[in-house]
Amino acid sequence: MAVSNKFPGKDVTQEDLETKFPLAAKKDPNHKSWFSVAGVEFGGDLIPVFAGPNMVESKELIADVAKNVKASGAHFMRGGAFKPLTFPYRSDAYTETREEGLAWMAEAAQAHGIPMITEVMEEKYIPLVAEHADILQIGTRNMQNFPFLTACAKTGKPIMLKRHFGCSLRDWLGSAEYILVEGNEKVILCERGVTAPHTHRGSSRFLIDLQVVPAAQEVTHLPVVVDPSHATFWRPWVEPMALASIAGGADGIMIEVHPDPDNAKVDPLQPVDFAEFDELMGKMERVAHAVDRHVKAPA
Ligand code: PEP
Ligand code: MN
Repeated sequence: MAVSNKFPGKDVTQEDLETKFPLAAKKDPNHKSWFSVAGVEFGGDLIPVFAGPNMVESKELIADVAKNVKASGAHFMRGGAFKPLTFPYRSDAYTETREEGLAWMAEAAQAHGIPMITEVMEEKYIPLVAEHADILQIGTRNMQNFPFLTACAKTGKPIMLKRHFGCSLRDWLGSAEYILVEGNEKVILCERGVTAPHTHRGSSRFLIDLQVVPAAQEVTHLPVVVDPSHATFWRPWVEPMALASIAGGADGIMIEVHPDPDNAKVDPLQPVDFAEFDELMGKMERVAHAVDRHVKAPA
């Protein structure tokens, strides 16, 4: 069936691939970006795992996380020091640790030999975050902040571009192109849930779009990571959706892990604890084998 290019809308057309995001577009069916970040390979058989708390709450917490997620085989530690919190008021229970949190995270990453990814939210903090992070995370809310994408791209640091919760694949690839066009080729896409009328639970805000993994892989060579923690917002659903993501071809998985999930300061409903994460790593590895991939480095 021919795809009409006459009224391009929310879905990707041949014309888009040729003129709107030629750098993000696959050149042939086997075309996949291949690159390494801090010794971790993207674009091959490995499915890198990013694990850690929503927020870098304290020096002790992030050191504990680095030690434990590294021991379970995570490839990167995640955590937010600069947080896109929905409401402006701050209290001891609803806060950000900002510069201090970033320094704690960098120290923990260094001490435990695990690379780190963290969100950068404002242009003025790009140099500081780029100094410490192995990967700059651009959050869902900044996906279409185009001058910000350009500024992040210019650092030359690898970038994880989270999909805006209301944007199409076409919009997402348009944003990726803003980074690629600056000559920055280490771009990782991350699906983190989209808005939908029904989310199957009163507290859930998003619905995981697993279908976007093969849809993206059909048209782009960029790796596609899935974050089932933000997408489900509900701990019991994180494991099944992580396993489904791997079965469905995800090129990486981001999991929120907290030593004491119920008492996490931000989003306490979604993190798993260290023991649950360790068990999940084993299950992800077994599902990865079924699709000829690995979560743990091959022995
Ligand atoms: C996060 O990963 O901590 C985060 C805020 O994610 P998102 O931008 O997808 O909401
Ligand atoms: Mn294996």
